[in-house]
Order: sequence, then structure tokens, then C-alpha cells
Amino acid sequence: MQVTVIGAGIAGLTTAWALAEAGAEVRVMERSAALGALACSRYAGGMLAPWCEAESADALVVALGQEALRYWPKVHAATVQRGSLVLAPGRDAPDLARFARRTERFQTLDADGIAALEPDLAGRFRSGLFFPDEAHLDPRAVLPALADALTARGVYFDFGRETDADDPSLGIVADCRGLAAQDRLADLRGVKGEMLILRCPALTLSRPIRLLHPRFPLYIVPRGDGVFMLGATMLESGERNRVTARSVVELLNAAYALHPAFAEAEILEMGADARPAFPDNLPRLRPFGKQSLRVNGLYRHGFLLSPALARRAADYLLHGTRSREVMDENPGQ
Ligand SMILES: Cc1cc2nc3c(=O)[nH]c(=O)nc-3n(C[C@H](O)[C@H](O)[C@H](O)COP(=O)(O)OP(=O)(O)OC[C@H]3O[C@@H](n4cnc5c(N)ncnc54)[C@H](O)[C@@H]3O)c2cc1C
Repeated sequence: MQVTVIGAGIAGLTTAWALAEAGAEVRVMERSAALGALACSRYAGGMLAPWCEAESADALVVALGQEALRYWPKVHAATVQRGSLVLAPGRDAPDLARFARRTERFQTLDADGIAALEPDLAGRFRSGLFFPDEAHLDPRAVLPALADALTARGVYFDFGRETDADDPSLGIVADCRGLAAQDRLADLRGVKGEMLILRCPALTLSRPIRLLHPRFPLYIVPRGDGVFMLGATMLESGERNRVTARSVVELLNAAYALHPAFAEAEILEMGADARPAFPDNLPRLRPFGKQSLRVNGLYRHGFLLSPALARRAADYLLHGTRSREVMDENPGQ
């Protein structure tokens, strides 16, 4: 069976992977000349944190997200499995208690416990929550690694071509265009996220740290060699690329609150994109045409939920199997 995947973000690549594993002949069409250049996936933190996400996300995210913890270490050996740590400045201790009430699978740590996990944070926080089963990865390493592995499996990539997902001559299509699929998914919206990449060699962290913050869940993800990704704002806007001074100030203030060493950090990059999201912030598989599918709505869970969504997409495209949790027959127009 031949399938055309449109879009080489994380939805497209994982769908191509699931299809190729099931024996389909797959080609991937990507509008940008270089992998990731126009993809929201490039800006992700890469946290695989289903239990932390339960603080604000639907139970479906927690359930589907657990697939990612089994999937990524197999598909991407550089996936780091050291858990994640949630902290709050002293004045925000009630927020930590609220976070604990809404989540599970964590250990409560005192100052010594935090210092044992992250020696560079010794003496800075009185209590925290450690989620030992969570993981993280570097999206900018995953995208090319996955594309290379797909190429090695015989998947053909066609870069630099904007494709009409509804062109009937394409045959069976997985439309994985992210926010660009708004032209066919009227209920898809953008949720803008801004992020920074900092180099701070004075500081070593081994796992993602979430710092509870009244307006958006701030996190710092170590990328190795003293490089950290700092994210992310959550704004109801489909605007891509523009980073505002206010967001940079807020992100940097939070980083400084985590550790004053960030005051001396070098800013390597400021970036933004808009996460593709449906009204309930849950992902969907939406059939169209004869046997085609739109794979979308990954919101802030691209790397967390794409393995589960892609597997279900391949099951539908190849066998017609409908997974009730994510299948949406409503055309949404
Ligand atoms: C700041 C920030 C932080 C985030 N942090 C995390 C995180 O820690 N963990 C997590 O799991 N998720 C995170 N996310 C969310 C994640 O990035 C998104 O959910 C995910 O990238 C969406 O992937 P996608 O493949 O649907 O879209 P995209 O990555 O945007 O990919 C769509 C692709 O389709 C291509 N395309 C579009 N139109 C066409 C066309 N007509 N023809 C051919 N190609 C086309 C585009 O060029 C693009 O490459 C974050 C997002 C942001 C912005």
C-alpha cells in the first residue's frame, strides 16, 4: 500500500515511521527546503512528561502520553530517562501543593532530596516534586535522526514542495501539516509559544525543571554542553516567529529565580511558533476523501502524543481501524 505523508514535523515523521513499520510504501512531502525549517516541532522543549501534564491536561493526554515513554527510547536512543522535577519559589508553596493534588507518580522531596538530585540547586528550594518515570529528548536531534532512519527504511522525502493535501492524484494521504491545515480544519487554532536557548556553562542540570509560575508553566530543559532550552509562553495567537520583549523578560526572570547563574548566560536563540490546537486541546484523527486522514491538534504535546497518534493513524490508513479516543468524524468546518 502506498501512502503520501504531507508535512515533516513530528506528526508527519512519526506517522511515516508507523506506516513504514507496518510495511507501507511511504513518501513524505515537505514544503520547506530543509527539515524543520518551517516546523513548530523545532521549537519544542521535548519533555515527555505525561504525569506532570495532568496538572492542566485531560486524562487522555496522560494515557496516550505513556506510549511515548516506551516508544522514544527505542526509536531515539539519545532519549534521556532521568525524570523531571517541579519546584516553586517559597512564596508559591501553595501552588506546589495544588500541583501535587492534580498529579500522581511523584515523590515529594525536601531541600536535601533536591540537592541530591540536582547538586547545583542545593539550598535554593525547600520542597519539590520528583516524577521519576518521565523523560526528555532534544527535538532538534530527533527530527533529522528520524528522517535519516526513515530514509534508510526506503521512505522517500520530497523537500521544497508545497502540496495540496486534497489533491486526489496523491492517493491515500496523511495530512500532517500542523497549523497550515487550518485551511481544511476550521476549528484548528494556534497557541503561540516563545522560547529561548541559553548557554550557561556554570550550571549543570540533569533533567527538566518546571518552575511553577502564575501565568504559564515555565520549564528549563538541559540540552547538554551547558545549553538549556527555556520555555514557554502560552498565548492565544496564531502568530509565528515574533518574540516579544515582555516574554523574554518574564522567561529570563524565571530562569534567574531558578538559579542566579543564568544572569551570565549567553542568549543563543529566541524563537516562537504557534502550536496547532483544537478547542479542547486534544489531538484528532479526522478522515477525509476516500481513505485519507488529517493528523493534527498536538497542541503542546507534539513529542508526547505523536507516537500514540501516529500508530492509530497507520491503523486507520492501512486497516480502516478506528480508535475511538482520537477518531473524529466531524468535519469541523
Ligand atoms: C515553544 C514551544 C514549546 C513546546 N514544547 C513541547 C514539549 O516540551 N513537548 C512536546 O511534546 N511538545 C511541545 N511543543 C508542541 C509541539 O512543538 C507541537 O505540538 C508539534 O510541533 C506539532 O507538530 P506537527 O507535526 O503537527 O506540526 P509542525 O511541526 O508545524 O509540522 C508541520 C510540517 O508541515 C509542513 N507543511 C505545512 N504545509 C505544507 C504543505 N502544504 N505541503 C508540504 N508541507 C507542508 C511544514 O513546513 C512543517 O514542516 C512545544 C511547542 C512550542 C511552540
